Amino acid sequence: MSKGNISVQVENIFPIIKKFLYSDHEIFLRELISNAVDATTKVKTLASKGEVKGELGDTRIEVKINKEEKTLHIIDKGIGMSEDEVNKYLNQVAFSSAEEFLAKYKDDASIIGHFGLGFYSAFMVADKVQVITKSYRDEDPAVMWECEGNPEYTLTPSDKSERGTEIILHINEDNKEYLETYRVRELLNKYCKFLPVEIKFGTKSESTWEGEGDERKEIKTEIDDIINNPEPIWKKKPADLTDEDYQSFYSELYPMSQPPLFWIHLNIDYPFNLTGILYFPKLTNNFEIQKNKIQLYSNQVFITDDVKEIVPEFLMLLQGMIDSPDIPLNVSRSYLQSDANVKKINTYISRKVAEKLQNLFNTDRKSYDDKWNEISTFVKYGMISDEKFNEKATGFVLLKNIDGVYATLDEYKEKVKSVQTDKNNKIVYIYTNDRKSQYGYIQAIKDTGYDVLEMDTIIDNHFMQHLEYKDNELTFVRVDSDTVDNLIKKDESVESVLSQADQDKVKDIFTSVLQSDKSGQIELKAMSPTAPPVVITKPEFMRRMKEMQAMQGMDMHMFPEMHNVMINTNHPLIADKLLKMKSADKKSDFAAYLHDLALLNQGMLNGEELSKFIARSLEFVK
Ligand code: ADP
Repeated sequence: MSKGNISVQVENIFPIIKKFLYSDHEIFLRELISNAVDATTKVKTLASKGEVKGELGDTRIEVKINKEEKTLHIIDKGIGMSEDEVNKYLNQVAFSSAEEFLAKYKDDASIIGHFGLGFYSAFMVADKVQVITKSYRDEDPAVMWECEGNPEYTLTPSDKSERGTEIILHINEDNKEYLETYRVRELLNKYCKFLPVEIKFGTKSESTWEGEGDERKEIKTEIDDIINNPEPIWKKKPADLTDEDYQSFYSELYPMSQPPLFWIHLNIDYPFNLTGILYFPKLTNNFEIQKNKIQLYSNQVFITDDVKEIVPEFLMLLQGMIDSPDIPLNVSRSYLQSDANVKKINTYISRKVAEKLQNLFNTDRKSYDDKWNEISTFVKYGMISDEKFNEKATGFVLLKNIDGVYATLDEYKEKVKSVQTDKNNKIVYIYTNDRKSQYGYIQAIKDTGYDVLEMDTIIDNHFMQHLEYKDNELTFVRVDSDTVDNLIKKDESVESVLSQADQDKVKDIFTSVLQSDKSGQIELKAMSPTAPPVVITKPEFMRRMKEMQAMQGMDMHMFPEMHNVMINTNHPLIADKLLKMKSADKKSDFAAYLHDLALLNQGMLNGEELSKFIARSLEFVK
């Protein structure tokens, strides 16, 4: 037996390990199993070069709990260590890297919590750690290393005859949870689900059937429970995979979800190494978006599902995983943001997504159109937030009109250009953001022969501004922002049938009626006699200012809700009927009624106002 002191620069590192890794104790298991996987991969490599004598045998890693002894065991059949190697790797190398890591980050516990610390993370959960190991080199005897969470350790000979390493953690009082099967299984599922070496944790029963008819009986056999899938499909070549492979892998990942819309297989080894699959989910509700995030792996070891710095923000809705040994994990977030590799990965992913969409668009336009509603939000968001993506996406972003016809930006421009260009050479895109409440306006506009776009998602306000900004020829107006004949300002104006004196009379009548309504501005306009007598409009500019205010959470009262009351002086009910009425009371009742109808059409009449209106209408009908 030999004793020694782990070379310590920091006074005693163990209390620091326990204290600063507080937030994420559970990663110890990932670290220890990763070491076991490394050791196993190494022995396989050596065997393939003929450097291991005899059969390699079973190379499964086993995790087991001994409740009585309060121990958790991680057993591998990897390369193992000789006494010298234990001294070198556990007493010097591992320790000094743990020490360096802590010295650097002890002021920022949040960072430490995110990342592993290698072998010494075992002391977060164990009072005592034993390592029993035997090298693949037959001549090296097995040894046992023991340490009780202080700088002293002991090394004694061991009678272990099998190649490999067994780590025994004597779990401390505070971390008893790691002696519970369900808890350990949960961790294995989280961190080790796709590790490249099979990991056994307990057994499960498998049933088979024997015999015929009445004789038929179920035979249950206990078999090893392998918790991981060592060959996840993202590691395979895309050419070797079918659509079903991708789909069934998706349901393995997210058992309760609907099938994905489509997916991208990432596979690159220069200038950085990255594999993975990104799935475009069928968005059903927000809850699911939150739940199934993109996972980040490093050589099949789960690292985190907080991938903000690595995946462009607009792609955070996607699911699946990316696996890259080139993403530096043991560093702070701010470092990650400025890391050149991370930036390249970000750009690469964004480009791949654009290529995939362009490809779908090119190969099957019909099915692309069908999927558009579900992907439109993030394509639009991507265009607004990522200039490179914007350039690529102009080819496949779609506009949808109220008849459900989809068009690319170019197609749409071509479609409406001749009819919807105004006298200043702006091409006017007319849109609705609520086809139900704006129904009346939409009908009137369609009758004119103009096209109406449906822009009713949360992001559309920003998206329209973005398009206007990118293309000076364009301007968007909402269906109710002006009267139909003025939505697209052309030169020809309609002549008024009323004299100036009569027009003044009309204005006076409406002014007296609208006295109490401070937010309405009266405007007389000679429109077509078939246009409505009174129309409420909400000028585009004012409305957008207000919407922007609301979005920025500003005081809504800074800009009062304003609208225009447009009176069609050529409508027979105004030009003729109203002016010919005898009593002043009748005139104002009638004007008020026409005004109410216009408000009603804009959905602005409700509550008490609406009840009063109905009562008045009943009077009229009588
Ligand atoms: P890292 O894995 O980052 O190198 P660790 O502190 O986890 O750091 O481990 C230190 C070293 O100890 C490893 O590099 C390896 O050489 C050795 N080691 C740890 N666990 C095992 C194991 N299960 N089998 C063989 N060697 C191991």
